[in-house]
Amino acid sequence: MAQKILLNQDLCIGCNTCPLIDPDTFEMDTTIYKAKIKKQPDTITEIVQSAVSSCPVGAISTIEETK
Ligand code: SF4
Repeated sequence: MAQKILLNQDLCIGCNTCPLIDPDTFEMDTTIYKAKIKKQPDTITEIVQSAVSSCPVGAISTIEETK
């Protein structure tokens, strides 16, 4: 089953860690200084997983996409 990334901008403190670790998947929205998903990854690679687990406030998670 495919996995998908979720980013809760209400929790994000704009630390810039996730786009630094994985700039293909995450980017900063400079108008609100919070991260957003740039592109859903095809697969959850170690780099994506590293960015997810490096978020200091747990704003990023992975979910199983059911379809
Ligand atoms: S690592 Fe977490 S808190 Fe930092 S920019 Fe990314 S989502 Fe926001």
